Amino acid sequence: MKYALLSVTDKTNIVSFAKGLVDLGFTLLSTGGTLRAIAEGGVEVTPIDAYTDFPEMLDGRVKTLHPKVHGGILFKRHEKSHVDTVKEHGIGAIDLVCVNLYAFEESYKQKKSEADMIENIDIGGPSMVRSAAKNHKDVLIVTDPSDYDTVLDVLKEGKDDLAFRRKLAMKAFSKTAYYDSMIARYFKEVTGEEDDLLTIGLKKDADLRYGENPHQKAAVYSDPMVNSYFSHLKQFQGKELSYNNYNDFNTAVSLAGEFDEEKDGIICVGLKHATPCGVALGETDVDAYKKMFEADSLSIFGGIVALNTTVDKACAEEMVKIFLEVVAAKDFTDEALEVFKQKKNLRVIQVDYEAGAMKKEMRFASGKVLVQDTDLDAAEDYKVVTDKAPTEAEKRDLLFGMKVVKYVRSNAVVLIKDGMTLGVGGGETSRIWALENIFNHNPDRDFTGSVMASDAFFPFDDCVKAAAEKGVSAIMQPGGSIRDEDSIKACNEKGLSMVFTGVRHFKH
Ligand code: 5GP
Repeated sequence: MKYALLSVTDKTNIVSFAKGLVDLGFTLLSTGGTLRAIAEGGVEVTPIDAYTDFPEMLDGRVKTLHPKVHGGILFKRHEKSHVDTVKEHGIGAIDLVCVNLYAFEESYKQKKSEADMIENIDIGGPSMVRSAAKNHKDVLIVTDPSDYDTVLDVLKEGKDDLAFRRKLAMKAFSKTAYYDSMIARYFKEVTGEEDDLLTIGLKKDADLRYGENPHQKAAVYSDPMVNSYFSHLKQFQGKELSYNNYNDFNTAVSLAGEFDEEKDGIICVGLKHATPCGVALGETDVDAYKKMFEADSLSIFGGIVALNTTVDKACAEEMVKIFLEVVAAKDFTDEALEVFKQKKNLRVIQVDYEAGAMKKEMRFASGKVLVQDTDLDAAEDYKVVTDKAPTEAEKRDLLFGMKVVKYVRSNAVVLIKDGMTLGVGGGETSRIWALENIFNHNPDRDFTGSVMASDAFFPFDDCVKAAAEKGVSAIMQPGGSIRDEDSIKACNEKGLSMVFTGVRHFKH
């Protein structure tokens, strides 16, 4: 007698699979709900409690945890002592196990109570999956409904060789690992504690056409337990996001998300190659967009735009005048969506700014994973270190600039005037070069009355002097150089104000 044990929470296609197994000569064993589903489908099936002669108990907590089940799965079919032992105890072979687990992930998404979450921790299921996967040489472990047809075909053709069984075992252990990572993270969330193990469980959303370059294969994965700007993306139109789009989009939206529409006003971020090219505050969405465009009308071509507000028709009409890869916003009016339709490939995406930024970020460094708190510092405190203090207007621009410069690769400086970037300089190995780039790239621009924000201290007074010459009137920087005094002195001589925040914003 060949036994197959079926115990599934997701009952998709279970009846047809059960039928197929019976046709192949299996006798079916099953647990409560699965048994009912199969029997209702008109397939003969034996209740597991009749088979073990032990009742399902403790509200289903103990259903299949029995030596007749685990012995029947785990004994080695070609080892005499094992065969003798199971015979002695009247244990029959279970040659196929089909299990999928309690819906812990769905329960989490439904924000169920702690008591419900605990009841949704599957015990017997993973035990059977692991037993069968361990003994895959002798047992087929089926954990994915999309494999049912393949398994039946392979069995029919007698092609269930070791390679096939190994693949099923790999999938099975992958599933239990993912499942347990979710449970671990749930307890980390509940306790607010961490231990030394980084438990991540990521599921593939999609293969991407390619990575940063066409010869690099790539995919995108997501963590169902993480809530962030990107948890509830809604794409209205356009091609799928590419690898580079995701990366750029992340920076654009994170920067836009630093500005609360009510408190800080409407922001429009223009972004190119993961670097803000133009950022501007505006009275309206279209006003902010126009200022962003004016800030750097060259680089934004083929870029990404993110707004922390609802995009209306007037704004959409401006946006379709140039080639953009992505437009992201809190929302879009129906009229705006209508306007975007003329640009079929443009990706138009709604972002959940309410969800907030990720509290931690991760990066891979050749076999190591670096984890850090996200740099969410908002630079509200600072100390005036010069004779002159910034005016109210300068203060607003300085705080704005400090938020922007956080998203520019070091060494980074930005120049701001009236809630708009006049220049973004970054990714340079010397700070003065970052500033000189701004002036070189904008030879005709008037920088008089603009302010400068720097991601880290000035090692020399050269940046202050170069800025003063172009008419910059106020500076914000962390301070902390052994030559701070030189920069302060240069400011006082040239009539600039300067403030220290004490907080560095490197981005490497
Ligand atoms: P059913 O709907 O058939 O009543 O239950 C199926 C689910 O029960 C499957 O997801 C399976 O993983 C789980 N399961 C099977 N045996 C046990 C057990 O002994 N204890 C617990 N907690 N879950 C089990």
